[in-house]
Amino acid sequence: MTSTPAVRLRREPPAFRPVTVERVTPLTPRLVRVTVGGPKLDGLVIDQPAASVRLLLPSPGSGRLVRPAWNGNEFLLPDGNRPVIRTLTPLRLDTTAPRLDLEIVVHQGGAASAWALGAKPGDEAAISGPGRGYPVDADASGFLLAGDESAIPAIGQLLETLPDDTPVRVVVEVADPAARLDLPAHPGATVEWHDLPAGAPPGDALVAAVTAATGAGLPAGTRVWAAGEAAAMQRIRRHLLEERQVPRSETWIRGYWKHGRAGDGGDD
Ligand SMILES: Cc1cc2nc3c(=O)[nH]c(=O)nc-3n(C[C@H](O)[C@H](O)[C@H](O)COP(=O)(O)OP(=O)(O)OC[C@H]3O[C@@H](n4cnc5c(N)ncnc54)[C@H](O)[C@@H]3O)c2cc1C
Repeated sequence: MTSTPAVRLRREPPAFRPVTVERVTPLTPRLVRVTVGGPKLDGLVIDQPAASVRLLLPSPGSGRLVRPAWNGNEFLLPDGNRPVIRTLTPLRLDTTAPRLDLEIVVHQGGAASAWALGAKPGDEAAISGPGRGYPVDADASGFLLAGDESAIPAIGQLLETLPDDTPVRVVVEVADPAARLDLPAHPGATVEWHDLPAGAPPGDALVAAVTAATGAGLPAGTRVWAAGEAAAMQRIRRHLLEERQVPRSETWIRGYWKHGRAGDGGDD
C-alpha cells in the first residue's frame, strides 16, 4: 500500500490590508520613516511595544502590488513566485486616520530598503499583522535594551513605554556613525552608541557591549531585551543564559535579520 506524504499545513497569517504611502521622512541617512494609511487599517490593534507587521511590497520592476494567495504553507503570487514580504516594527498607529509609521533601515541590496528610499505618496503596499510584541514586566527592577540599527525603531518605542521610574540601559550598534539619532527621552535611560568596526561581522560590537554591560553581573530583577542580526543574537543568548546564568524568562532575544540572506531571519 502506498501512502501519500503528509502535507504540512501552517495557520494562515492575518490577511494583508492594502495601504498607500502618505508621507516619507528621512530621519538619518540610514533610516527612513514611511507613513502608510488607508481605510483597511481600520481595526488593526497594536497593544504591545516592539511588535511586528509584515509589509508586502510590489514585485521588483513591476511597481504594481499583486495580492498573493496562501497555499497552506506560504504566500505565492499568481505566477508562482514568492512575493516580497518583510517584517517591520509597527509604530504610532493613529486609529482615527487610520495611519501607521514604519521606520526602515537603509542598507546595501535590500528590497525594503530600496522601496523606502524611493517611496512617494500614493505608492501601494499592504500590511499584515500584528505579531506579538514585548510583554513589559512592570515589576522589573531595570532594563537592558540592546540592538543594531534594525532594532532602533523598537528601542525607541520601548523607551516611550517602559515605566519612568525604572532604570534603562540602552546599547546600540551602528554600522555607520550617520545612523545615530536622538532616541525618545526616558528619565531613567542611559544610551551608548557603538560603531561596528569596518569589516567586522554585524553584531560584533553589540555582543562586546552586552558582555561589558553584564560583566559584573546584572542587578537582580533586570530584564534584557535584544534584537538584531541572528548570529549575533545567538551569541548574546549564549552569553546571558550560559555564562551569566540569567534566567531565560528574564530575557527576550530575537533575530531580526540574517547576514547574507534576504528576508527577516526572524526566529519565531
Ligand atoms: C520582529 C521584527 C521587527 C523588525 N523591525 C524592523 C524595523 O522596524 N525596521 C527595519 O529596518 N528592520 C526591521 N526588522 C528587520 C528586517 O525585517 C530585515 O532587516 C529585512 O531583511 C530588511 O529587508 P530588506 O528588504 O531591506 O533586505 P533583504 O532583501 O531582506 O536583505 C538583503 C541583504 O541585506 C542584508 N540585510 C538585511 N537587513 C539588514 C540590515 N538591517 N542591515 C544591514 N544589512 C541587512 C541581508 O543579510 C541580505 O544580505 C525587523 C525584523 C523582525 C523579525
